[in-house]
Amino acid sequence: MPRIAYVNGRYVAHADACVHIEDRGYQFADGVYEVCEVARGYIVDAERHLDRLARSLSELQMAWPMHRSTLEIVMAEVVRRNGVKNGLIYLQVTRGVASRDFLFPADTKPSLVITAKKIAPAVNAKKAEHGIKVITVPENRWDRVDIKTVGLLPNVLAKEKAKAAGAQEAWFVDADGNVKEGGSSNAWIVTKDGVLVTRPAEHGILRGITRTTLFEVAAKLGLKIEERGFSVAEAKAAREAFISSATTIAMPVVAIDGAPVANGHPGSVVLSLREAFFDVAEKRLA
Ligand code: PMP
Repeated sequence: MPRIAYVNGRYVAHADACVHIEDRGYQFADGVYEVCEVARGYIVDAERHLDRLARSLSELQMAWPMHRSTLEIVMAEVVRRNGVKNGLIYLQVTRGVASRDFLFPADTKPSLVITAKKIAPAVNAKKAEHGIKVITVPENRWDRVDIKTVGLLPNVLAKEKAKAAGAQEAWFVDADGNVKEGGSSNAWIVTKDGVLVTRPAEHGILRGITRTTLFEVAAKLGLKIEERGFSVAEAKAAREAFISSATTIAMPVVAIDGAPVANGHPGSVVLSLREAFFDVAEKRLA
């Protein structure tokens, strides 16, 4: 089945899909995006992802590229046309195409690109079985990382650094030595008492949709959550550590900066959250 992308009103072959060189996403990273998990033929947590998209657009004074309900139909259509049962859907909105000028262009229509990709469930299951390694890097991003913009160069560099160190994610650490979040995920630990700890999302991190849904999963499992900062040292000494994102769900972290977390194997709490996630999340048949 050939991959199909949605680009500004058209379904086109993925290989031929392109936007104009004067798109502001290309020139200024003047755009926002969302990634939703597709699992067992369902788009997961679409409502929350679109609510966050609304917020991102509003914070940047950008218009919706189309009515929200139409966008939902197009998203499902892209998933369907690509035959994705498990994988992800990516959607990106930029301020549109305009002659290069820093100021917002007048009367420019936002650009919309939607793609979907198959990912075999076994790929993530295998990752979860072994857990992932993370490194820590000093925070060097702007202070509006609560907006999900396509300006991700610090994240790219941090994740590349992680790869060079044999790790799969980089955790940004603030000036006080507290973990903020990963390059493309939120960061969590489990204390010796079995309490989940994750940084408050009011400021300085992206409010992950998976993070939000995990609060509900934790409640269902009778697990307590504390929203507070935690240091790298506390994470290294924790009972468990893990990351969350739409593409990884809850994924065990087994090493931080080369030091094993607990016995260096995935913990039982994160695996139980992972197991219960799909049942709790909102599911929309594509
Ligand atoms: N933080 C950052 C910086 C991210 O890029 C992501 C993934 N988009 C997340 C957190 C997790 O967000 P979500 O659970 O919505 O995928």
